[in-house]
Amino acid sequence: MTRTTPPRPLDVEALFPELAAFRGTTTRLHPRPGDPGPGDSSVGGPMLWPAEEPWPLCDEAHGRGRGRRTADIHRSRRILAASWARERSPGPTDEERDLLRELSRDHVIPGASETDPLPMVGLAQLYRRDVPDLAGPAGCDLLQVFWCPFPAHGPGRNELEIHLRWRRSGQVGDVLAAPPRPAVVGSDDLVPEPCALHPEQVVTYPDAGVLPAELRARIDAWEEALEEEAGRPADGRATTPPPGYQYDLSIPPGWRVGGFASWHRTDPYPMDCLVCGTPMRLLLTVDSSEWDGGSGSWKPVEDRDLPTHRYAAPTHVIAGSSRELHVFVCAGEPTHPHRWCFQ
Ligand SMILES: [Zn+2]
Ligand SMILES: [Zn+2]
Repeated sequence: MTRTTPPRPLDVEALFPELAAFRGTTTRLHPRPGDPGPGDSSVGGPMLWPAEEPWPLCDEAHGRGRGRRTADIHRSRRILAASWARERSPGPTDEERDLLRELSRDHVIPGASETDPLPMVGLAQLYRRDVPDLAGPAGCDLLQVFWCPFPAHGPGRNELEIHLRWRRSGQVGDVLAAPPRPAVVGSDDLVPEPCALHPEQVVTYPDAGVLPAELRARIDAWEEALEEEAGRPADGRATTPPPGYQYDLSIPPGWRVGGFASWHRTDPYPMDCLVCGTPMRLLLTVDSSEWDGGSGSWKPVEDRDLPTHRYAAPTHVIAGSSRELHVFVCAGEPTHPHRWCFQ
């Protein structure tokens, strides 16, 4: 089933014609629970990985001998989803609560060292045929994204370790049937639920913070005027909040490829390649939800009647304590090391 972004509440280029020069596109991935195969674009699905090629491992030293089992995490989510989907008395029963408690236990791997081979978790794979905004090295038509299931890297020992792999899918012969899996993981937020993708390319505009100051000031003034108007309805009745540039008109929420970074947590800062200094472009955004209260205008037409609690976070991935994870690649040479930030 396709997913269709509703028309924006108003034509922002009609209000601010100079925005046309900044117009871009992004592909909303619209992940939804599914059963993708290695030949499909997916979040959390099986990778088209050559049988003879070593699976990506995290080789940074950090604790890896204690955590939850991935099978327990997936099972817990299925139990919870089924319990909330029950028509009569939704929510887990006492028996289910006991089981969920058991499944939430940490397990200890006896004798585990900080450098044991630790298989990374497949986060997403994207075929260019499905994702119009996916740009990468010449000739490669498949991007595979992995991460270490322990948020335990870098100087603060709390950062992610992300691994990107570009491929020519036609060159993959036998596919690895049973990829290695971590015995336990450090955070269930880093374990994606298998989701099929329903990519949709939409128009997008940059975060207001990176627009020219004069244009930004006019957008701010326009928003303030709208809010003031909405705050004093003539008939005294409450009204829906007026559309805003940030939430409704510029950058869609949810998993997406390309487009513009949204800066929620910090002011915008330059993201330049650490090898060649070229400004990087946004490759992938991992979002903790597909829409929320503030960005509900982007909820796809097909999902309008679905209850939010079951569908707003289909992947179950939570990008750190913030809303979004942006992964950037060098615009000059996409094989240069990527960078990322939380927003
Ligand atoms: Zn690691
Ligand atoms: Zn570079």
